[in-house]
Amino acid sequence: MSLQIDETHDPARTSWVVSANGHREFPVQNLPFGIFSPRGSARRAGVAIGDCIIDLRGLTAEGFVSCDAASVLHHETLNALFALPSEERVALRRRLSEGLSDSAYRDRLQPYLHKASSCTLHLPAQIGDYTDFYVGIHHATNVGRLFRPDNPLLPNYKHVPIGYHGRASSVRSSGVPVRRPQGQLKPPDRDRPIFAPSQRLDYELELGLWVGQGNALGQPVSIAEAWKHIAGLCLLNDWSARDIQAWEYQPLGPFLAKNFQTTVSPWVVTTEALAPFRQAASARSAEDAALPYLTDTQDQQFGGLALELSVSLLTKRMRYEGMAPFRVSQGDASGMYWTLAQILTHHTSNGCNLLPGDLLGTGTLSMAEREGFGSLLELTLAGSEPIALPTGETRSFLEDGDEVLLSGVACTEGRTNIGFGACRAMIVPAP
Ligand code: CA
Repeated sequence: MSLQIDETHDPARTSWVVSANGHREFPVQNLPFGIFSPRGSARRAGVAIGDCIIDLRGLTAEGFVSCDAASVLHHETLNALFALPSEERVALRRRLSEGLSDSAYRDRLQPYLHKASSCTLHLPAQIGDYTDFYVGIHHATNVGRLFRPDNPLLPNYKHVPIGYHGRASSVRSSGVPVRRPQGQLKPPDRDRPIFAPSQRLDYELELGLWVGQGNALGQPVSIAEAWKHIAGLCLLNDWSARDIQAWEYQPLGPFLAKNFQTTVSPWVVTTEALAPFRQAASARSAEDAALPYLTDTQDQQFGGLALELSVSLLTKRMRYEGMAPFRVSQGDASGMYWTLAQILTHHTSNGCNLLPGDLLGTGTLSMAEREGFGSLLELTLAGSEPIALPTGETRSFLEDGDEVLLSGVACTEGRTNIGFGACRAMIVPAP
């Protein structure tokens, strides 16, 4: 079960992979799964440990991993691993934790260790479908206020998890550049639309949920069972062209303003690894209580996550001057009005089937205060108050050469922090 805390989470556990000890993202307590290729070699499954990656295909061939999960570790995607019952993923995690922490295994496992800096990371799964939700209540309020100052939240928001179907084919791993989209825009001073590169390109700070075991068409997943269908999480940037969005979004919602590219962090931080960081879901008043099909006592007690999230920006000039990325916002995941279990259950509630490797985005995770706003639309009040950067540059929206970096770390008292790894991409000019 994803709430199980065992020896793999023990803060005292260390690794013979020395760089893992004290590593801010990939200590031995994390063990996220991914797909990587060592230089010049084929794709394979791996686990991040410190500044290295251990080759799971190699460990299987060597015989170190012989649990039920071993049969799926030679694939070039993680879909089959996601589809395993969580008990089998737990057994695999315990075996890997044992091998990477007990120095008696060092000589045996060392040959399967690669420096991460010499490897290429890929999307972890073949993504069948991608859906993006809107669970960030502060984001929904901030954006709503820009359009409806007196009535920012629409009346359905507190009852139904809002989402739209995104585009799976344009999801890319961290590091793949984002080409500025062109599209139909209607500048306020014109009567008719034009076709031009977006001038209001933005990012959205989100979490991505990787679907584990799917459900058959016509058979909804109950809220009590939903966590068993979540394989793990990543960071997700839902790039958004605000000018294209403003002209096209009514009456059917986002379309070309958002489907030109979506960036995810390539490591899958498992629900097993996140067990110590689960906390109460955000509280609601009795009058805002969710309908029974979205209500579960355990989900209310443990459906929240203790995650710190931030966004940094690195402009072309900052890069040229050798400066570090500049943090433009910092917050946490407490603004989730709907839990991960609730969005998964809601998605299947009409009988819609999810498949292993499907991707669900949470929606932008903003805080109530400006320091924690998760998009430029909010930070700059729709471009009217540009942010200042340490070079003296300002930004209303993203410019060519700007790189956006998302960061996420799970942290709670008495536990070893675990992180998500890089989710970054640079804007390149429109074609
Ligand atoms: Ca979004």
